[in-house]
Amino acid sequence: MLAKHGGVPVRTKPWVPPFISTEEFDEQEKSFVLGVLEKKRVFRFYGEGIQDSEAAKLEALYRQRTRSDYALAVNAGTSALVSALVGAGIGPGDEVIVPGYTYIATAAAVLIARAVPVIVEIDDTLTMDPAAFETAITPYTKAVIPVHMRGTPCQMDEIMAIARKRRLIVIEDTAQANGGSYKGRPLGGIGDAGCFSFQQYKVITSGEGGLVVTNDPGLHARASVYHDCAVLFWGVEPSTRIESFAGENYRMSEIQAALGLAQSGKIDGVVARLRSAKKRIVNGIADLPGIRLQRVPDAEGDVSYSLVFFLPDGERARAFSELLAAEGIPNGTIHNNGFADRHIYVNWDYVLDKRGATPNDTPWNCASYKGSVQYDRDMCPRTLDLLGRAISISIHQTLTEEDCQDVVEAIRKVAAHMAQSDAGAAAQHQ
Ligand SMILES: *Cc1c(COP(=O)(O)O)cnc(C)c1O
Repeated sequence: MLAKHGGVPVRTKPWVPPFISTEEFDEQEKSFVLGVLEKKRVFRFYGEGIQDSEAAKLEALYRQRTRSDYALAVNAGTSALVSALVGAGIGPGDEVIVPGYTYIATAAAVLIARAVPVIVEIDDTLTMDPAAFETAITPYTKAVIPVHMRGTPCQMDEIMAIARKRRLIVIEDTAQANGGSYKGRPLGGIGDAGCFSFQQYKVITSGEGGLVVTNDPGLHARASVYHDCAVLFWGVEPSTRIESFAGENYRMSEIQAALGLAQSGKIDGVVARLRSAKKRIVNGIADLPGIRLQRVPDAEGDVSYSLVFFLPDGERARAFSELLAAEGIPNGTIHNNGFADRHIYVNWDYVLDKRGATPNDTPWNCASYKGSVQYDRDMCPRTLDLLGRAISISIHQTLTEEDCQDVVEAIRKVAAHMAQSDAGAAAQHQ
């Protein structure tokens, strides 16, 4: 009998810890951070040793991990996106295409760069639909930001082909997919620039932090100038000569960089464990007729901390979700689950309302903008439909074989009950 109806729940032990990143903290993080304190050098551009600061080491590691020529450490993932956009020469008058399902920071970064975000549909991969991207291109489009949501690689072959044909810049938002790959290529290293976040919710963390990778020396030089309003003053050798302009202060501290270095050394191990746990669960439920698994463009490259499947409609998804939770497996529907998730465009209030910090000067009403982007809450019906009937379960690197078996058993139990009650309802209608 279902736990909801008084039966024994499949699982009574707690499910996974809330974070992947901090669960890995051990002696290594402590010694890396203490090493910085002992050196009494917490500012990356201070005096001697700029070349081998912790931040420089972190940049070197990500150049190598993503097979990129340049890297720039910054203080957040949002800052990484803004720096990459400004670095690519994007600004007032330009449109940048973003998916309707991504953390609000992706759209906010476009606005901070003074450009206009254009919101497009996702598909059953829960990432940007390449066809929707192509349809949304206007004479003002300069760039596209595919987002590898929940560690799932985007359909990069299709997106890159369209972008190359239409001469658009591709900035990969890899904030949620550090350690993932697509057809053997590291995520973040496929587009013109890749942006990472090291905030606690991500695969690894430095508390706060972010990083841009690129093969374009001009993009790197401009991003560097933007990330520190006096970068040339510190004696940093620019990757190529450019004219300076005003930037913000997005520098990364040495403490963050040291923590990021300790954590980044663990990514591949964490991702390998996540993948084997997810594979176990997927194999245990793939044959179920009542549910459809999220399509993953390259399952081998999936970071694999998120398991998503779709029910035929929102009502069934909510019922399924509740029954599964009662069996002891925490899970959620993504849309219409009772809170305004800032990963779904309908909850991006200041974007949809075209609101800036001041009313008179926004990217939409600035004189250089000749486009006519319109937003409304029904603009991406497929995105809302998919997210409204999706069930998501968090996978963690600490899951044992037995833990995975519990999820499989609980899903099968609930699916069997749902199939039975659907059959019952159908019989009644005859
Ligand atoms: C977290 C996140 C960001 C922003 O990263 P911060 O470090 O929080 O600024 C950007 N894009 C996506 C998809 C994210 O999940």
